[in-house]
Amino acid sequence: MAYINENYNKLKAGYLFPEIARRVKAFTEANAEAAKRLIRCGIGDVTEALPQAVRDAMHKAVDEMGDRSTFRGYGPEQGYDFLRNAVAEHDFKARGIQIEADEIFISDGSKCDTGNILDIFGAGNKIAITDPVYPVYVDTNVMAGNTGDADESGAYAGLHYLKCNPANGFVPDIPNEPVDLAYLCYPNNPTGAVATRAQLEAWVKYALANGTTLLYDAAYEAFIRDPELPRSIYEIEGARDCAIEFRSFSKNGGFTGVRCGIVVIPKGLMGKTKAGGKQAIHPLWSRRHSTKFNGTSYIVQRGAEAVYSPEGKKQVATLIEHYMGNAALLVEACKKAGLSVYGGVNAPYVWVGCPNGITSWQMFDKMLNEANVVITPGSGFGSAGEGYFRISAFNSRANVEEVCRRIAALV
Ligand SMILES: *Cc1c(COP(=O)(O)O)cnc(C)c1O
Repeated sequence: MAYINENYNKLKAGYLFPEIARRVKAFTEANAEAAKRLIRCGIGDVTEALPQAVRDAMHKAVDEMGDRSTFRGYGPEQGYDFLRNAVAEHDFKARGIQIEADEIFISDGSKCDTGNILDIFGAGNKIAITDPVYPVYVDTNVMAGNTGDADESGAYAGLHYLKCNPANGFVPDIPNEPVDLAYLCYPNNPTGAVATRAQLEAWVKYALANGTTLLYDAAYEAFIRDPELPRSIYEIEGARDCAIEFRSFSKNGGFTGVRCGIVVIPKGLMGKTKAGGKQAIHPLWSRRHSTKFNGTSYIVQRGAEAVYSPEGKKQVATLIEHYMGNAALLVEACKKAGLSVYGGVNAPYVWVGCPNGITSWQMFDKMLNEANVVITPGSGFGSAGEGYFRISAFNSRANVEEVCRRIAALV
């Protein structure tokens, strides 16, 4: 028999979404009629159709694959130049940011990237993670053996938790000690918070002073409406020397079921060796990508390229407007109901305080049983999420309007 990776035994076994599924199933089995009016605002998945420009580009790519003279087999592992160039041009150069095409790695999504990135970092790093947090950052560190066991509150020994709360606007204070890696995600899932330029400047300054590598997840940058807010960590001077950025086509282009992501690693970004030397990180990720990944499908990359076409940009803007219109309605409904509301202005998530001191799971049950609406309990994202719940704006307008009516009737 083979030894297993026992780090997996430390995981709080897939706690959040399976538990939601279990409670929803029990509810629907016991309440056949009410189950028919159930509206899901839980999991952060897009609901609207792929943009026409993306579909057209993918159809064309399929036809190319069907003709021997234009057929493509294995592509470059790092991504086709047409897409790397489009990303460099539209996401960075057009915004005055210096990122070159060969600093961009195309993948099958940023959930995988944020987990896989740990492959190129060694043991013994001090790792900072926000609380509440996107659970992938935590669980992949547990799997990699970077933590000890979890305590009662679900906090793992060895991780440095950065509490996010109304007092700091859900953007963590700078750590009071040096850390080697720090995960930041803005606009944030689950809180919908955004980081201002001044806040990111403070983080970059800290990172440069302490040799910290920032792992910056910009999956929701397209939802930023306020032109003053940075949409990439590289808008901050010095970030090229301390940050890796993750981007995704999932939430802007609706690619959650198509799969395409981006990792940006500036060539000058350095890590350290045990012997006390410095080494560039870019070649490590390039090597990892070439060895463990065989490229994102040509058809998908043509679809992603189309997100940057004039029609694609217009269609994505329409999608974002739709979701952000939903978010605005949800924010208003929760405020009218007297709840404390955060996010939902530059992010598709509305983060709400539970009324009357009830817990996140009590609120989940109340929403499920009384309003027949599925939300996500904040405590599932970390102990600092207790007392909050998340409503996703990814839905049809009709569903969101109905959810707003039910919230008004509920509280
Ligand atoms: C949705 C999401 C992503 C994107 O994941 P994909 O694997 O690209 O679909 C990345 N980070 C966060 C925090 C997310 O919520």
